[in-house]
Amino acid sequence: MKKVLVTGGTGLVGKALEAVIKEQAPTDEQWYFAGSKDADLTNLAATQALFARERPTHVIHLAAMVGGLFHNMNNNLDFLRNNLLINDNVLQTAHEHGCSKVVSCLSTCIFPDKTSYPIDETMTCRTTAYHDKYGRLYSSVIPCNIFGPHDNYKPEVSHVIPGMINRMHQLIKEQPEVPESEKVFTVFGSGKPLRQFVYSLDLAELMIWVLRNYDSVEPIILSVDEAQEVTIYEVAQAIAKAFNFKGKLVCDTSKADGQYKKTASNAKLRSLLPDYAFTNFETAIEKSVKWYKDNYDQAR
Ligand code: GDP
Repeated sequence: MKKVLVTGGTGLVGKALEAVIKEQAPTDEQWYFAGSKDADLTNLAATQALFARERPTHVIHLAAMVGGLFHNMNNNLDFLRNNLLINDNVLQTAHEHGCSKVVSCLSTCIFPDKTSYPIDETMTCRTTAYHDKYGRLYSSVIPCNIFGPHDNYKPEVSHVIPGMINRMHQLIKEQPEVPESEKVFTVFGSGKPLRQFVYSLDLAELMIWVLRNYDSVEPIILSVDEAQEVTIYEVAQAIAKAFNFKGKLVCDTSKADGQYKKTASNAKLRSLLPDYAFTNFETAIEKSVKWYKDNYDQAR
């Protein structure tokens, strides 16, 4: 029997994993989705207590201080320190408890701004240290930008898609006396940066595949194809279409663009899963907008 502990189990990806696992109902796996209420993973004793209680054999490590461009720019040092603590506590405790496999979640943000494109797995460093020293199967996946149900929608924290969904929903609801065609939606920055976006439910399926079938310690990029890259303005258009928003989209170039692009190659994933069909971007945006409209009073 495998016992899988998911750290960060109540966030965007954790909730997607939970939904996919519910559908598949495996008989030889037990899953536990730990959230911040279970343990403060920046604290070693609390991390050890969680592992002692749940006794996992496998870990999907999602817990991290995360946030969009603006949250990162405002809290750089806190991101660094909290994530160093969380990662050290989780990996070392997993090792001490004899966990045979850990799949940690990185991000395409780990690559430098000035690099060559597309980014690929050979450009990472030190993700295999527990394997090199102890022979552990501890590796990482590198997703592109993620979106879907249960995202973080707080404007000051959120990534672009949940941020725009929240702001557009507000704009449509406020001042009902103003005709919608006269309302103006603001896209932060020039609208020109390029991003690849993966739907959280697709990423969850791919991470479950990694846990069960990918027995290498080399990291693997879990991204949609390069041809699927879109501009931020196109993202705003897709969200406007899903809301059936009749107003104007205007770019505020006084706000930061962040990295112009982070184009990632999924050639390694495609060599292993050539036929995996990612959910169409517009369809996934429609589902995400519908989820938000149905759940916004409980959304984060
Ligand atoms: P990144 O991929 O790590 O840069 O993170 P984000 O998802 O936060 O931002 C992606 C891009 O979307 C950046 O170029 C932002 O300037 C742009 N953007 C446009 N509108 C918004 C918004 O409402 N929220 C956020 N976070 N970014 C926005």
